[in-house]
Amino acid sequence: MQDASLVSQLRIPTIFSVGPINVYLIKADPLTLIDTGLLSEESEGALRAGLQSLGYGLRDIRRILITHGDYDHSGLAVRIAEASGAEIYVHEAEKLKMDGWVRFISGKATVLATGGVSAEIFAQVLAATQNRIPIAQPLVEYTPYKGGEVLPFKDFELEVYHTPGHALGHLCFFLRKQGILFCGDTLLARVTPNPQLEIDPQAPDGRYKSLKQYMSSLDLLEKLPVNKVYPGHGRPFTELKKRLAEIREHHRLRTQLIAETLRAKPLSPYQLAVALYQGLDGYNNVLGVSEVWGHLDILQEEGIIEGRLENGVYSFQTKPGFSCFPAASKARVEYRRSSAIEM
Ligand SMILES: [Zn+2]
Repeated sequence: MQDASLVSQLRIPTIFSVGPINVYLIKADPLTLIDTGLLSEESEGALRAGLQSLGYGLRDIRRILITHGDYDHSGLAVRIAEASGAEIYVHEAEKLKMDGWVRFISGKATVLATGGVSAEIFAQVLAATQNRIPIAQPLVEYTPYKGGEVLPFKDFELEVYHTPGHALGHLCFFLRKQGILFCGDTLLARVTPNPQLEIDPQAPDGRYKSLKQYMSSLDLLEKLPVNKVYPGHGRPFTELKKRLAEIREHHRLRTQLIAETLRAKPLSPYQLAVALYQGLDGYNNVLGVSEVWGHLDILQEEGIIEGRLENGVYSFQTKPGFSCFPAASKARVEYRRSSAIEM
């Protein structure tokens, strides 16, 4: 079966700088939608029009698979389920986001404070979020997935993989027979997904080590026999291994740049984010802190930096005797070329 006849990509507008989100329709029995677009009249209209152009209606959808709970990926899920009776499949860890973005972000306040984010900055984050994101329809009926499940279609199967990193409960969906990977925001053709700071109740300090998890998720995806990658944003692509190598290199250089920045004096994750990214505002404060803290986890594990908690705030510095990475100057150049904080 040609994938053009099996999979259709619908580009649904969002309010975010990343641009439209890709929603995918698997035109097989049962008719399955991957991600939804955000909860707005404009998005719902675009989804309805896209489905109609393919000869379907919202009511025909039988299954809704959610890669992760970010608002643009999952906002319409409950509305579509109500209109169609479709079942929603999502990782348990994403439910909190889907139930309400503001409450989800509020839950990060304590951990962000230990990263040096002041109450004033956090108030700006919340205000920016409250102004932009409409109230969600809470997720009541759904099937919680963990990864490892197999969803049957009439002639083939869809495998579910847990790929934490950009989101704690991120899932990728793989059609092994066709070699098609639906990877949400785990892999994008042009931008590097942000390893978002999230709360992990099982972690000792309550914070999930998002970049470390993300790098492990890349290793997992590399083992799959993939012919084509359908990402959550931007164009589909075929060269999985090449893209994986580019993303690993991007993070390696960024890690080196951060180590070099910490040679002069100890900095909190927030101070480090301010030093590296110009004009942090609104939710970008959280993205900036998420990105640098992910790299700090890696540097700490490699024994290059040490951290300490003083007056409730962590600060980090390179250990005595650390000498600059040979490629650090290249890292500076790369950093200037790349956009500041990616989605
Ligand atoms: Zn996204």
